This record gives sequence, C-alpha cells and structure tokens, in this order.
Amino acid sequence: NRHKGGMEVEKDNAQLGVVRWEDIGGLDDIIDELKESIVWPILRRDQFRKLGIRPPRGVLLYGPPGTGKTMLAKAAATEVLANFIPIAIPDLIKGEVGESEKALAAVFETAKRGPSIVFLDEIEAIFGSRDQAGEVGKKLISQLFLEMDNIPDDAHLVVLAATNAPHLMDESILRPGRLDKKIHVPRPGYASRRDILGRTTKHLDIDNREELIATLAELEMSGAEIKALVRAACYSAIQRGSKVLTESDFDSAVEATHFQNEFS
Ligand code: ATP
Repeated sequence: NRHKGGMEVEKDNAQLGVVRWEDIGGLDDIIDELKESIVWPILRRDQFRKLGIRPPRGVLLYGPPGTGKTMLAKAAATEVLANFIPIAIPDLIKGEVGESEKALAAVFETAKRGPSIVFLDEIEAIFGSRDQAGEVGKKLISQLFLEMDNIPDDAHLVVLAATNAPHLMDESILRPGRLDKKIHVPRPGYASRRDILGRTTKHLDIDNREELIATLAELEMSGAEIKALVRAACYSAIQRGSKVLTESDFDSAVEATHFQNEFS
C-alpha cells in the first residue's frame, strides 16, 4: 500500500493485535514447525485421528526477548481462527494461594469452549523459589498439569508457553502430555534482520528502500529493536512534515534508539 505515509504506522495490523504469518520475518523454519504441530492438528483433526498420531498438547518457545515468540503464538491463533488467550505468569503468581489456581482453572474452562490458544508468557516464573511466590508457583504448576491432563481429545485447545530463561525451568514441564515440544527462537542474523526490516516497513514509503534496508540490517538488532527503530524513523519523518522516510530519518532513529555504536 504505497501511498500510505509514515503517519499510518499506528494502524499496522500487528499493533492492532491481528498477526499473520507474513508479518513475521526471519523465522520461516519455526513457522513451518508450528504449522505442523499446532495448525494441522486443529485443521486436519480427522486425518490425525485416523492415522493415530497424537499431536503435542503444548509447545515451549524459548529464546531471547523481542524475537517474535508472542507474534508466533498470535499468528497461529489467527490461522486456526482460535481465541488467543494470553496469560502473563508473573501476574498470576502475584495472587494468593487458592486464587491463582482458580484463575488458571477459569482460563482453561473458557478455552475449552472453542478453538483456543492459551499463551503462557514468562512461564519460568512458575518455578519462582521466593517465599510466597514459590508457594503459589507450586500450586500453579500442579493446577497447570491437571488442566493439561484434562484437555478432552476433541478440544481445539493448544497451550503455547514462552520463556527467555529456559535454564530456570524444571524438566518436568517438558514431559509428554505437557509442553512436549520445544522450539528455539534465536536472535536474528543478517538475512533474518533484512527480512524483518522489509516486513516491518512494507506499508511505508522509503527513499532508496532496498539499499537502506541492506545497510540497516547490519545492525545487531532483535525484531523488537527493529520495530522500535522503524517507529523512531517514522517520528523523525513526522517531525519533518514528510510522509516518505529517508536515510536521515533512520540516522536519527539509530541515534534515538542507541544503536549508534554499531552504526558508526
Ligand atoms: P518477549 O520475550 O520480550 O516477550 P517476544 O519474543 O515475545 O518477546 P514479541 O512480543 O513477539 O517478542 O515481539 C515484540 C515486537 O517486536 C513485535 O510486536 C513485533 O513488532 C517485533 N518483532 C519481533 N520479532 C519479530 C519478527 N521475527 N518479525 C517481525 N517483527 C518482529
């Protein structure tokens, strides 16, 4: 949509919450894996049943912050027309013993009613060892396992969990019937950064686009950092009263977002 200017950036689909596979850059292999393990079991359920293949009940996405784990879960939900139900585990842990398990049970109760992807973000917090948090965490772990064991075979319900700190997690969560598939979501390399830059700016008019993107991709940024950079460049263009982004907007953006060291 070439005539959309920088000011339209706020209307980017991803920011409205609707994420599609094509919004995600540099993670093609992971997308294929998720399609196989989450999308097919829902869309091709009869085939799975007939062939006697039991799909994973849950998948753990692990890797550094801002690499697209949440986006992957949202895109999977979009493809299978499922409700996306995000739960920040640290928030749940803040509750009292009793309350937190009830809240989790309520989430699964809702999720079982229709096609759903329950997204447990920062799942490592469930293994917190500090006093009260530790106590709540233990109860929550048992509740989570109970809920997962009780997902009816015919429910369209998959649990996706994400963590930046897999080393803080107990292996018990990876047993069959729990998060029985692990997928690493790495920091993007050059080609992936280029791909992410292209997708994050596809609705924007950029002067000398291809060359500029090839240069910007040299910066060691995560997907989230790329998003922040593009946003800052848009602000720079807005300030100039322009709808077209130029190299100078990205120069200002790099400065504003602290990547100047790598850039110079
Ligand atoms: P965290 O571990 O900090 O929760 P995350 O891995 O879940 O991070 P996201 O929330 O998916 O990361 O990414 C944050 C934002 O960064 C996204 O909304 C998107 O704008 C951008 N982003 C991150 N990774 C990608 C990617 N691979 N392709 C396109 N955009 C990306």
